[in-house]
Amino acid sequence: MNRRDFFGASAAMGLGLTAASTSFASQTTEETDKRAEAKLRISSQLGPAPGDSLEEKLEKMKKYGCDAVEFHGDCVGKGKEFRKKADDAGLEVSVICWGSHNGDLCSEDVAKRQPGIDDLKRALETAGELGANGVIYVPAFNGQTKLNNYEIRQLLLEFMPDLAKFARDCGTSIIFEPLCRMEAFFLRQVADGAAIARDVLRAAEIEDGIGVMGDFYHMDTEETSQMGAFISAGSLLKHVHLAGGVANPRRTFPGENSTTYVDGFRGLKYIGYTKFCSFECGCAGKDKEEAFAKSIQFLRDQWAEA
Ligand code: MG
Repeated sequence: MNRRDFFGASAAMGLGLTAASTSFASQTTEETDKRAEAKLRISSQLGPAPGDSLEEKLEKMKKYGCDAVEFHGDCVGKGKEFRKKADDAGLEVSVICWGSHNGDLCSEDVAKRQPGIDDLKRALETAGELGANGVIYVPAFNGQTKLNNYEIRQLLLEFMPDLAKFARDCGTSIIFEPLCRMEAFFLRQVADGAAIARDVLRAAEIEDGIGVMGDFYHMDTEETSQMGAFISAGSLLKHVHLAGGVANPRRTFPGENSTTYVDGFRGLKYIGYTKFCSFECGCAGKDKEEAFAKSIQFLRDQWAEA
């Protein structure tokens, strides 16, 4: 085969492949378009919820239509106690917002890693007791590790497969949270987190136990399309944080700044998302209770429009 014949044959093969890809793409699109299944299920951290005591916050969350509460790491080791508090208020527990453990799991100091891994396991056990979808994990905030992007990703692939299996056995998941560049140089886009989760699942030879989330505040800086970001995560998307983006007033209740949610919600609808969207934001309004109720209504209107 000479050079001209070779390119001719390649072109013909290319055409065949294109036709096959087109039919595959349309079939896949139909199968992955799950808009009818999607639901907006609202959760909140305790900080944004109105009320003074924990009990009062849970009661008001229920009153204004939340389905779940997102606890912080202080619930670790007290799963039954916190589960009862949520049960009494008629709420589920969405996730535990755990954080980075000072970046210890991805530290250049090898001695710091195992204690971090052990503590994450305790958090996963508690998440299992709470019936929560997962434990939010940030590999490192800026300044918490001297490893570079390449090294952190490689390290995650070393220790995460066993942890993901552990999470799955607890009936829950590790959830990567991508952050904006002002907070973390590593893991800034939803698709990146999803790709790492996929690689961990492949390495562990399991189908669940790790995933990714999207936070509208961070996504406002890092993503060109909120819809595209959520679709790229697909079934690996396990949680969403609700907050206005960087426009003033920054990172406030949805509806208090110019951030819109319709594009992102279209992505959530497309993948048939039924997990939780949870408030993690400040309040610009003077009356927090009124602002909370108004913000939930704003989100429901945005969902209806999406
Ligand atoms: Mg967040």
